Amino acid sequence: MMKVGFIGWRGMVGSVLMERMLAEKDFSGFEPVFATTSQIGQAGPDIGMKIPPLKDAFDPAMLKTMDIIVTCQGSDYTKKMYPLLRKSGWNGYWLDAASALRMEAGSVIILDPVNRTVIDQALADGKKDFIGGNCTVSLMLMGIGVLFQKNLIEWMTSMTYQAASGAGAKNMRELVSQMDMIGRASEEYLKDPESDIADLDRRVLQTMNHERFPVQHFGAPLAGSVIPWIDSPMENGQTREEWKGSAETNKILQTKSMIPIDGICVRIGAMRCHSQALTIKLTKDVPVDEIRGLISESNEWVKVIPNTKEDTLKYLSPAHVTGTLTVPVGRIRKMNLGREYLTLFTVGDQLLWGAAEPIRRMLLILLDHISS
Ligand code: NAP
Repeated sequence: MMKVGFIGWRGMVGSVLMERMLAEKDFSGFEPVFATTSQIGQAGPDIGMKIPPLKDAFDPAMLKTMDIIVTCQGSDYTKKMYPLLRKSGWNGYWLDAASALRMEAGSVIILDPVNRTVIDQALADGKKDFIGGNCTVSLMLMGIGVLFQKNLIEWMTSMTYQAASGAGAKNMRELVSQMDMIGRASEEYLKDPESDIADLDRRVLQTMNHERFPVQHFGAPLAGSVIPWIDSPMENGQTREEWKGSAETNKILQTKSMIPIDGICVRIGAMRCHSQALTIKLTKDVPVDEIRGLISESNEWVKVIPNTKEDTLKYLSPAHVTGTLTVPVGRIRKMNLGREYLTLFTVGDQLLWGAAEPIRRMLLILLDHISS
């Protein structure tokens, strides 16, 4: 029976992967082996069947017995174990949520509802490294990938509104701690509807700028504010997160010539849904109704939201989308810049389509490919 090794299964991405695999009853037809970097010998996840205690994720001899390794452990782990395994002659499939190998020539960035043909070609060519994409890029492509596929995009800017979860579990806690501190500090003014709004405003600001305000992980207040910087700086003034927009999109789609994409990536106080406002320069003047039709028919998860206040407030927000696989695309309209300028807004759960779901689906594709 095929052996699949899971590393990083208890992290944020990994635990969502486990939830989805359980919900879809994916744990059948192969032998799952769970490993850890810190809890060797302890019990693995509850997957509804008896599994042995956790193995050592740093044990190459154990890893070499796997047909497929699925890792959501992070880039440091990938950088340490991947080269070691490949050098030792291991020829199995490496399926990874971390970014370390994404731009390697031999790697395929996976998002099968959008690039299944690229994936199938890579499998036929004998490629073995399949890597999940950047969450913002994957969510954008789930929403409007069809416009790229139909050669309708000349260039695009993406202004993002990214959730705390993209920075990790500790950051999610920090965001809520910040909200909690602001809430508690403001209580006396909130209880009294007659109190002066200027006093409430001053109290919030004082709290946010207080030395005990928790900013250890974000480095700045996020609750009540925004942070227009995500990831490390690049030499050209972009952040790495901004650079990924163009680099990964073009790699996922295997575009013949580079389609320019750029924008500013901003952290906001949402928990786990990223949103994006896109400005698209179309290659030709396509009617908005046609664009809506193309988007809504492009995959079963995308949902076109009518450009009304009522529908936007109801369906086009992290509060509505979190925990679902739905990718709403709304506010679709031509801009007053000209008939070839389109704008829209899209939202998606960055732990589902942004991270775990493409990995889950690729695992099924690999299992099917190996057994056929
Ligand atoms: P994470 O939550 O920090 O988990 C990584 C590992 O930390 C776990 O597998 C676990 O390994 C260890 N760990 C230590 N203390 C833990 C605790 N209290 N609870 C759970 N795990 C704990 O990492 P992540 O956010 O899932 O990201 C994993 C990789 O996916 C990264 O490369 C990231 O860049 C990539 N990615 C993340 C996102 C995202 O939204 N977060 C999206 C796309 C891609 P042991 O069991 O071995 O100790």
